[in-house]
Amino acid sequence: MTALGLMGIGLLATCDPQLGRGPLGLVDNAALVVDRGLIVYAGPAAGAPRDTDGWRDLDGRCVLPGFVDSHTHLIFAGDRVDEFSLRMAGRPYRPGGILDTVAATRAASRSDLAGRARRLVDQALRSGTTTVEIKTGYGLTPAHEAAHLEIARALTREVTFLGAHLVPPEFAADRSGYLRLLTDTMIPAAATAGSARWCDVFCEAGAFDVHESRAVLDAASRHGLGLRVHANQLGPGGGVALACEMGAASADHCTHLTPADVDELAGSNTVATLLPISDFCTRQPYPDGRALLAAGVTIALASNCNPGSSYSTSLPLALALAVRECGLTIDQAILAATRGGAAALQRPDVGRLSPGSRADAIILDAPDPAHLVYRLGAPLVSAVLKDGAWAWKGPLS
Ligand SMILES: [Zn+2]
Repeated sequence: MTALGLMGIGLLATCDPQLGRGPLGLVDNAALVVDRGLIVYAGPAAGAPRDTDGWRDLDGRCVLPGFVDSHTHLIFAGDRVDEFSLRMAGRPYRPGGILDTVAATRAASRSDLAGRARRLVDQALRSGTTTVEIKTGYGLTPAHEAAHLEIARALTREVTFLGAHLVPPEFAADRSGYLRLLTDTMIPAAATAGSARWCDVFCEAGAFDVHESRAVLDAASRHGLGLRVHANQLGPGGGVALACEMGAASADHCTHLTPADVDELAGSNTVATLLPISDFCTRQPYPDGRALLAAGVTIALASNCNPGSSYSTSLPLALALAVRECGLTIDQAILAATRGGAAALQRPDVGRLSPGSRADAIILDAPDPAHLVYRLGAPLVSAVLKDGAWAWKGPLS
């Protein structure tokens, strides 16, 4: 006997081309059966196993995999709406605003930070995100970062140590001292406690240069952490090349790429993660997703939710921007937000609805996943299944 069956699926987007037609692996008149948190059947209703405990009729709705948001900064206090308003009035984006959030976050209680992060994860879930990566990076002391890693760990297994977000003000005159603290104390602690899976570095003018970033990634690698890099967001630089050289799972932003950067990405296993909501909110140019795909690069689409440059958990918004501004087709954007995110987190168990994968799915109040982009801004997510259970039921209930 199986736990739950979904029938009456007008269109199932498995995101597994072996299971259906086109790149999204589409199946008409489909059924989905889950057991113990995993997909056991995804295909035509006529072929579904009959010994299922309970069936839920979806009345022709469309179903697709839950989104995999591989880049967020959810452990923070305060907001930067004033900075945003000024930027919208024409002031250019500068990464230094991060320090305002560092001050607010250091002053916040642990329960306040945990509550805020929980609410953002819930908000993300309601727009279809079932797997979320969470970075630290607004504590920047050993004690704060350790506490923030624990808060993140309670919310996801995809926890990233981002002590190399910015040099904190107390080390402004001693950058090398902070780097030593990172490589000799904070990174080993993040790895030893088992709370972080990943280590990230903000490799950008005004944050950490390539030489400093390499030292951070080197230490992280030696301590068994997977690598991620904030690269080429505000201008061309060595971040993408460094990510590829170091075997990082992902180079994130990729807004300003040279042809050599694109070649490096294409010849590596590093995923290029596009974060178009931050380009929108900082009035930056957008990355050329179409060129990256044409070169054979694997791309992911993520929210970069943070209080400075992208205060949104909405992957449907990221999809719309990726199609409108990064040159992706709708299918390519949906794949980037599902399988691409899974590739960026090296999680083959999510981002698709295939037998054996996690039963994380979005039930859409629309007949086709393309409506996510077509009906920009409309709340189309009816319900969300996570690990085979109803994690959120909106209009479906
Ligand atoms: Zn970021």
